[in-house]
Amino acid sequence: MPVKGWIEVDERYCKGCELCISECPQNVLALDLDHLTPKGYHPVMLKMEGCTGCGICAIMCPEAALTVYREVPQKAAQAVQPSGG
Ligand code: SF4
Ligand code: SF4
Repeated sequence: MPVKGWIEVDERYCKGCELCISECPQNVLALDLDHLTPKGYHPVMLKMEGCTGCGICAIMCPEAALTVYREVPQKAAQAVQPSGG
């Protein structure tokens, strides 16, 4: 199964420059044309599924407006189960 990721956009900082959109290897980013940030820009959004959580968009963003999340595989969750007794 492919790794699943998603992003969070801090609309205080996104200026709709589209740099992250052009660098996303999965091509899953787009500007949200129905929405404006407090500063009057169209913010970036995930337009479809397929984000892998690679983090390239967050590295490219000159405003540090993006936070990338990645689904933790089930095995890692099992490893931290408390032992009885
Ligand atoms: S998230 Fe960053 S790189 Fe992407 S459009 Fe907004 S300001 Fe530009
Ligand atoms: S984390 Fe990677 S795949 Fe997901 S939106 Fe950003 S650049 Fe695209």
